[in-house]
Amino acid sequence: MNVTVFGTGYVGLVQAAVLAEAGNKVVCIDIDTKKVERLKQGVIPIYEPGLEPMVNNSVSSGNLSFSTEAAFGVEHGELIFIAVGTPPDEDGSADLRHVLTVAATIAQFMESKKYIINKSTVPVGTADKVRATVESELSKRNRSDLPFDIISNPEFLKEGSALNDCMRPDRIIIGTSEADSEQKLRHLYAPFNRNHEKILVMDVKSAELTKYAANCMLATKISFMNEMANIADKVGADIEAVRKGIGSDPRVGYQFIYAGIGYGGSCFPKDVKALISSAQQMGIAADILAAVESRNERQKHYLVEKILSHFNGDIQDKTFALWGLSFKPNTDDMREAPSRILLTRLWERGAKVRAFDPEALTECQRIFGDREDLALCESKNDALQGADALIVATEWQQFKSLDLNEVKGALSTAVVFDGRNQYEPGEMRDAGFDYYCVGRPDTR
Ligand code: NAD
Repeated sequence: MNVTVFGTGYVGLVQAAVLAEAGNKVVCIDIDTKKVERLKQGVIPIYEPGLEPMVNNSVSSGNLSFSTEAAFGVEHGELIFIAVGTPPDEDGSADLRHVLTVAATIAQFMESKKYIINKSTVPVGTADKVRATVESELSKRNRSDLPFDIISNPEFLKEGSALNDCMRPDRIIIGTSEADSEQKLRHLYAPFNRNHEKILVMDVKSAELTKYAANCMLATKISFMNEMANIADKVGADIEAVRKGIGSDPRVGYQFIYAGIGYGGSCFPKDVKALISSAQQMGIAADILAAVESRNERQKHYLVEKILSHFNGDIQDKTFALWGLSFKPNTDDMREAPSRILLTRLWERGAKVRAFDPEALTECQRIFGDREDLALCESKNDALQGADALIVATEWQQFKSLDLNEVKGALSTAVVFDGRNQYEPGEMRDAGFDYYCVGRPDTR
């Protein structure tokens, strides 16, 4: 099928690559000329495992191309995806500017029936706004005769496993009431719907709300566990034992119930805020979501409080090794990452940081620039050299097993602050470390 994708971010680029590999002719349109130039040269702007070879193979086979020419994109695609950003506005609501701009652009150039598929995460009612925008632009052109449909097709990929999530999705949600649109999308997604039925067809508003409900439920699980961990800390319980104790009930389940220093990234924080804002506009107090968000904001400071307490409030001129900058493993994305709060709070108090991340060093450099109190290190061992303590902020696989002697030898004092509960408190104590974690007995 001929497909056009507006937006070459995490969602648009991955979706385009996967659809092109499945044999569709896909054109990607972005307004970021530098990004498009780099993509044309085979340079992938984000780190996502497996994405680079997949994009480059499809470009070589002629199934995938990149352009800034919106008119060309609109002409090419019978199916047109909107996969642009929906950042939070000042009041937390989703900013639909980019989505509606793309809708207007499509209407400006379309000459035949278009299936306009919204993949961006948008509040309920956005499809109506997209429809109204397209209708208004067509009417300005005196082309109200041109048929189109607006379909909601929210994306559930996870950064770090985005390709796999798109190729083997848990579910594919198609929000439309038009049989014709449903058939088109069933056909497009048939290669990813083979071993069992994953397509769920529903009305547009339910599809739009499903995306927010899914992210808000996941954020709720995290904040709930973090609250339990903080209680466990105070009463001397072990949140890891509690996790196993509750996860064994299939109604709760083991997934997504790890305590830590809070969620980040481009989706959970923004989507929780956007749903709170939508609810408020409708006169509904979103009490649970407000609590989820405030717990998360506080949780990002949790380890800092333990650090300050260990050093009696004085970390001036102390040096910290920081392992993990991205908001989660397998991505270079630092948007709303807990590491950013850690860095800022440590710097405020006059500390220095030697940071290492397998993928996010460039992003960190881009965000914070050159600073005397930040050394970006080439390896995890390099980051440790001479530091007064190690802080773990992201659970990258390579941080999971510690060579305790090596770490102890490299640090000037054997102190570890573990924001992701990666190590066993007993083992750390036996090896002579002061070890602090989240919701497990600290050992000194
Ligand atoms: P992103 O910021 O990485 O990329 C958006 C891209 O859209 C940018 O390259 C930007 O230049 C481009 N763009 C903006 N206006 C444009 C226009 N008028 N025409 C063409 N291109 C334009 O965003 P993302 O992370 O890919 O997220 C996109 C949407 O998908 C958001 O609504 C997000 O909430 C949702 N989503 C994201 C994820 C994720 O893990 N990142 C997962 C599911 C859903």
